[in-house]
Amino acid sequence: MKRQSHKMTVTVDEHTSHLERLIPFFRELDAKGTTIETLPRPAIEAYQLEAINLTLAHVWENNAYYRARLEEAGFREPRIDSLEQLASVPLLTKDVIRGDKSKLLCVDPKHIGQEHLTSGTSGKPIYACYTLADQYVYDLLPKYLRIFDESDEDVTAVALPYEFALPGLGFQRLFQFAFGAAVLSMGKGGYMAPIDKQLELMKEFQATVLATTPSYAALLAEESEKYGFKPGEDIRLRTIWLTGEGCSSMFRERLERWWNCRANFFYGSTECGVVGVECKEHRGYHVMEGHVKVEIVDPKTGAPLPRGRTGEIVVTTLLREGMPMIRYRSGDLGFLQPGPCPCGMTMDVLHLRGRMEHMIRVGGEEFSPFLVEHFLMEIPDVGMWYRFIVRDDKLTIEAEPFRTKLDDAKLAKKIRSHMRDRLGMDVGVVIRRDIPRTFGKATRVIQ
Ligand SMILES: [Zn+2]
Repeated sequence: MKRQSHKMTVTVDEHTSHLERLIPFFRELDAKGTTIETLPRPAIEAYQLEAINLTLAHVWENNAYYRARLEEAGFREPRIDSLEQLASVPLLTKDVIRGDKSKLLCVDPKHIGQEHLTSGTSGKPIYACYTLADQYVYDLLPKYLRIFDESDEDVTAVALPYEFALPGLGFQRLFQFAFGAAVLSMGKGGYMAPIDKQLELMKEFQATVLATTPSYAALLAEESEKYGFKPGEDIRLRTIWLTGEGCSSMFRERLERWWNCRANFFYGSTECGVVGVECKEHRGYHVMEGHVKVEIVDPKTGAPLPRGRTGEIVVTTLLREGMPMIRYRSGDLGFLQPGPCPCGMTMDVLHLRGRMEHMIRVGGEEFSPFLVEHFLMEIPDVGMWYRFIVRDDKLTIEAEPFRTKLDDAKLAKKIRSHMRDRLGMDVGVVIRRDIPRTFGKATRVIQ
């Protein structure tokens, strides 16, 4: 099989950037036939320190907000001497940039090639403006040939939103320009691509890769049976990239069984792009250390936490001209573990614990929705659409039956007893058959 081509068909003529100084680092890795994935830690960290200093100098020169914040924090020049000193750079919160399209802009607007925005489910949207070079040169500069084995032999179905948000177009660029794969731009719920047509085209073109959300991968499997396609036979995927929503490893395992292929998690955001990607070992996300520096901070005080401690994930982008994100508080919880992973990669491993506002708080305790989902998905009689409803300090699980001979009362009893064993608390159970499917992000926790 051919290796990835990492074709870069776009050159940005007469374009200069603070990031140019990083190109030789990646060229040298190419020449040695290696990637950042397996470099010794000091080499990765030296690259990151240089990239952060270039970014600090870029925002100091070109952005009033960033400069004011750095000066307030006592910076006389835009420079840190070690990665530990990154902690002295002020954190960036969503509130500051929500609804403001130019606060973090660091280039003349005429250089912007793509405006992205977040879905704004929790208020006004956050804008992320990318220059052409951000999208077509720098974003594709670091290669991760161990993590991705896609090539020009693959046909990739991208079932992620294309409208405004980054995921659809971001995956499209990665698969086309980095790997040379063919792309089926399916989107999610657009009028040109109803589900039956999406499935038909995946079969027609023999899609080998699917990039989508966990809930949509479940919906596609469910609908394919309704339309008479057999997942794993009529559509023979090799890999599913799951992104956009987190899910538990048990939910993933059920998708893998249903589609008869491997499913890996991909963690990123519209603001920061790719942050972490799982290798085949499925032991957490490898931080994409060519693209981002990840820190974990105490969500209350903002103080950096050591490896192994769970806190808020803070991301600094390393390869952005248009709108670099510096110490951006993601609102997601997780912890870092040092490499190397059994796969041989030396990049840090990130473990996600879900979004802070989605934590289930019952009886004075806090449960990650992924953990509760994991336990629920251990019951084979339960389907993949469910809801956790938290009312009056009590958790009620709404669940659907799945290929089971149990009647509703017996199924509810089974769920109650299993969850009592696993969670150590009593839950209410309601069996339904009408939990709403969605083309958007699945809302699983209601409180
Ligand atoms: Zn690994």
